[in-house]
Amino acid sequence: MAKEIGIGAALAGITFLAASGYDITLFLLVAVFAAAMWLIRSTTPMGKRFQIIGGNKQDHRSIQVSFEGIGGQEVAKRELLEALEFIVDSERSRKLGIRPIKGILLTGPPGTGKTLLAKAAANHTNSVFVASSGSEFIQMYAGVGAQRVRQLFSTARSSALQEGRNSAVIFIDEIEVLGGKRGRHSSHLEYDQTLNQLLVEMDGINPYDDVRVLVIAATNRADLLDPALTRPGRFDRIVRVDLPDRQGRLHILKIHSGEKPLEENVDLDEIARDTLGFSGAHLENLMNEAAILSMRKGKATIGQDELREAIDKVIMGEKLDRRPIDEEIARIAHHEVGHGIVGEVLRPGSVSTITVMPRGQALGYTRHSQEEDCHLYTRGYLEDRIAILLAGSVAEELAFGSKSTGSSNDFQQALEISRTLINAGLSDAGIASVDELPKQVYYETVSAILATQEQRAKTILESRLNALREISASIIESEKIEGEEFRKMLGTEGTGMKAS
Ligand code: ATP
Repeated sequence: MAKEIGIGAALAGITFLAASGYDITLFLLVAVFAAAMWLIRSTTPMGKRFQIIGGNKQDHRSIQVSFEGIGGQEVAKRELLEALEFIVDSERSRKLGIRPIKGILLTGPPGTGKTLLAKAAANHTNSVFVASSGSEFIQMYAGVGAQRVRQLFSTARSSALQEGRNSAVIFIDEIEVLGGKRGRHSSHLEYDQTLNQLLVEMDGINPYDDVRVLVIAATNRADLLDPALTRPGRFDRIVRVDLPDRQGRLHILKIHSGEKPLEENVDLDEIARDTLGFSGAHLENLMNEAAILSMRKGKATIGQDELREAIDKVIMGEKLDRRPIDEEIARIAHHEVGHGIVGEVLRPGSVSTITVMPRGQALGYTRHSQEEDCHLYTRGYLEDRIAILLAGSVAEELAFGSKSTGSSNDFQQALEISRTLINAGLSDAGIASVDELPKQVYYETVSAILATQEQRAKTILESRLNALREISASIIESEKIEGEEFRKMLGTEGTGMKAS
């Protein structure tokens, strides 16, 4: 209120002076400068800039995240717990002469639980949690970022004191935005100043201060970080937070189904097996979508069908109302069943579902499950995958005498795998790098790989034309077929992958 009265009085004074014939240019310049400063400050009001979560009432729930509530990140949890020991038992660390850790860098793909781990760390050490993101520090105006870094650290310390705690966890998400290699940006002065300030603040952390500060940063691009940040004494510990493996996915599914009314026969292991490549965030979303599907159906519980459908929804998006014309549906069905038959012959029991309902960008979809998460692939495995990818267009050609544009995504993936084969020295070109191979040799090598696998797919499908027609006709009716039913129609029942 006092501010408004002051501004009003100043405006009235300036108007009076102007009306009395005085030169008010200087006043106007001062007013413009003051307005500009106000604008810069008001876009980032003090204290509200960072998300502060402590023992107070605001956002009390988020700090309740504990390590038990995080699934599938056992190594990351172990490393983090060890690094937190100096806060939990600082006396012991001091006696052993351990140089306490000031910073921990969590690296890994989006949605794998990096923020959760930082919150759990704050909870575990009974620290105040102050969160911010790299992009909040970068502004057009030189010096603003550096000032915000100073403010972040002082906010953490003062909030901890206010809350009566003796430690604070500062979490900086997307650290690569503020901690990228120096001198790479066009407005590098501002970026460099901001990063330098962060280094100064980290160097100034004294582990035996009244408030012990731990900085936890997260990034998906650790390669972009300035080496000064990752040198010992700053972010000493780099913890990988990877996509969960099958056991990890099962653990996360169990965590997120905790309060949901699952039906007795729900098999979460099957869902974990069918969700290769899903992050924790995807799995949380899957559980949520399954609950929404149950609600839509008017059910009070969540069953396996809703969970399976939720996988498709998370992978491909919402079902579309737009229904393709009948000829298109027939083509899509043969295309998908082509993938399915070749997939089943080359990797028995791998087909999970085949659908012909349009979802997101896709008109149909064949979902394969994988028994184990693999880290190494053989030439045979990769060639099988190419044959399965090309089987869609081969099936179209066998059934309709022509191919369609529906295979372009399959071809793209097949080309990628061919590239991997060449780069890994697994092709007939021998040990070679794609970038160094003459274009003609590269083209010939890829063409040979694709032609061989296309022929393989053709041979498999030609001997199963009846099954291709019958199963396609069946899914045109039902829109969808599950793995077991599909294997029954193909005559390979009993080969389905069993949950171990
Ligand atoms: P980003 O890199 O995009 O910031 P992130 O790695 O920080 O992502 P979080 O924000 O921690 O990911 O996770 C998002 C949500 O996904 C969480 O709120 C939680 O519901 C779920 N989630 C992610 N990982 C896990 C996990 N390991 N265990 C349980 N839930 C998880």
